[in-house]
Amino acid sequence: MILDAKIPAGPLAEKWSTHKFNLKLVNPANKRKYDIIVVGTGLAGGAAAASLAELGYNVKAYCFQDSPRRAHSIAAQGGINAAKNYRNDGDSVYRLFYDTIKGGDYRAREGNVYRLAEVSVNIIDQCVAQGVPFAREYGGLLDNRSFGGAQVSRTFYARGQTGQQLLLGAYSALNRQINAGKVKMYTRTEMLDVVIVDGKAQGIVTRNLETGKVETHTGHAVLLCTGGYGNVFYLSTNAMGCNITAAWRAHKRGAFFGNPCYTQIHPTCIPVTGDHQSKLTLMSESLRNDGRVWAPKTVELAQKLRKGELKVTDLKEEDRDYFLERKYPSFGNLVPRDVASRNGKEMVDDGRGVGTTGVAVFLDFADAIKRLGEDAVRAKYGNLFDMYYQITNEDPYKQPMRIYPAVHYTMGGLWVDYNLMTNVEGLYALGEANFSDHGANRLGASALMQGLADGYFVIPYTVGDYLAKIGPKPVDANHPAFEQTKKDVEERIKKLLALKGNKTVDEYHRELGHIMWEYCGMARTEEGLKKAKGLIQNLRADFWKNAIVLGENEELNQSLEKAGRVADFLELGELMVDDALMRNESCGGHFRVESQTPEGEALRDDDHFAFVAAWQYKGDNQPEELHKEELVFENVHLTQRSYK
Ligand SMILES: Cc1cc2nc3c(=O)[nH]c(=O)nc-3n(C[C@H](O)[C@H](O)[C@H](O)COP(=O)(O)OP(=O)(O)OC[C@H]3O[C@@H](n4cnc5c(N)ncnc54)[C@H](O)[C@@H]3O)c2cc1C
Repeated sequence: MILDAKIPAGPLAEKWSTHKFNLKLVNPANKRKYDIIVVGTGLAGGAAAASLAELGYNVKAYCFQDSPRRAHSIAAQGGINAAKNYRNDGDSVYRLFYDTIKGGDYRAREGNVYRLAEVSVNIIDQCVAQGVPFAREYGGLLDNRSFGGAQVSRTFYARGQTGQQLLLGAYSALNRQINAGKVKMYTRTEMLDVVIVDGKAQGIVTRNLETGKVETHTGHAVLLCTGGYGNVFYLSTNAMGCNITAAWRAHKRGAFFGNPCYTQIHPTCIPVTGDHQSKLTLMSESLRNDGRVWAPKTVELAQKLRKGELKVTDLKEEDRDYFLERKYPSFGNLVPRDVASRNGKEMVDDGRGVGTTGVAVFLDFADAIKRLGEDAVRAKYGNLFDMYYQITNEDPYKQPMRIYPAVHYTMGGLWVDYNLMTNVEGLYALGEANFSDHGANRLGASALMQGLADGYFVIPYTVGDYLAKIGPKPVDANHPAFEQTKKDVEERIKKLLALKGNKTVDEYHRELGHIMWEYCGMARTEEGLKKAKGLIQNLRADFWKNAIVLGENEELNQSLEKAGRVADFLELGELMVDDALMRNESCGGHFRVESQTPEGEALRDDDHFAFVAAWQYKGDNQPEELHKEELVFENVHLTQRSYK
């Protein structure tokens, strides 16, 4: 099968404008004849639902939390990129495009990435108009800072709470439309399946999380804005509720899954302390603007620190190895995440890790405090420092933070074309739920940019083209596909509730997480991945025999909710492993030990792997079929990534 990404022809900088002109329009009077389902009201979904309603469509929006404000997007700390060039430091749309393609290790589409960079400037204007309180300089202009993989300052931020402020902006736009009657909001409602009628997505099946009621909903198009699946690793920086269910059920109904193995491991998280943990905490990448990453120069010094025989503040300057600055003088502490993470791990593998577990390196602000003063550092990063203090009981103003890489983001997701449509007609995926723009590694502050680009500036144009083509005829709610899909969902719920074994769902989740982290985490080998595949298959079989799910359907039942999500993770995990095994090259967040340069950097194999892997579900316990979308590079030259 040939996957058509529908990238418009013509010069890179004109593709999106030309495409917008060529897209069909729906006239204002007809817009109100269409219903659009938006699943997920984080930044991508909230922006999409508000914008589509503003255009005049009838929107039905869903989230599993009690309010759209609780979407995982609220946790985003550091900032959002945009090629405004306010700093006059050499930024441009082309440079943001180039940095993003290079940062993604040349595994993303040129056309998509250029469009992302192009609309990034509109996002900031949109958010400012909504009242988002971006940080400002003394003179009143919007301030910027730097993030990894860039040598310019293009990141807009609202202290350490950028996601929260952006989400409040999108939420107020959404609320306006709820109030106007153009969006019907379903909270505490989980989508459990998508309804396909004659090859087109025409509805969803949901479960009301308070009453257990299973219902069908119709729509002319279905937009999945359901976030990422980092929680397949159990421990991650994602919100506890993040899951794969919506995308996975769509995958099982025919939507291809793109690059499932591309996972982002963020270098600066608070290290794991033991088995009691269910969540990890991010220390924003913005901290690498002023914080310096280091490890002790020798194993002996590291041992002394671990045993408490030496205090970190007593370690002499010449005994510290600022390894990122040493190895990558051009980018220093601001190398991209994949590079920083691998180097942190290398220190620990070398025996130079710190903290009681020995699985951490330092992020140090002593120099910044000396240079700028404690008040200036507090003004920039105060809430992040407080968070670190509350969790570790160590004062980062007085001693360096301990950090270690943790799972943070998933670049993989549902395969979509340039219009954000999956290979199933009328089924779209936006935000972290799609695979589209970050290649094998996402640059910091680019997820918020992509989610909002998709929701505010891409989907409002592209969905209209599809709707105009299918026409406003009402969707037939009595089509047998609705009843059948609902029955399938009910049967699955019954099957889960019938599990009365002796092992909790959490235990299975934790075990899956261990397998994924060990064999499909920061470094992957053929041998390890093959082992992981067997382990996951066994774990899944065991789950369906020995798991215990408490309670009933007709009540608030978190045991049941969790069981459904973990069951999906147990299937997704195997696909991630298959994808990682197939991709016998290193690229970005996917590091195959067999494929590295003599200096230990990721070694791509462009001759064989310059493609998007799109996997097709073929039935339970059947191998999935791989389809390849070849990546065409007409504007950038593929080189070995270097941040030296
Ligand atoms: C700690 C942390 C900090 C971050 N900081 C930054 C940053 O500074 N800059 C940056 O660019 N990126 C950052 N990111 C990444 C960024 O926050 C996310 O990628 C982005 O917010 C995802 O937005 P989204 O709208 O795609 O999904 P989400 O915000 O995850 O929203 C998903 C929505 O889908 C709903 N949903 C999911 N499944 C279902 C279902 N089955 N049925 C019904 N509803 C469902 C949820 O209820 C929710 O409304 C950070 C990530 C983390 C973990």
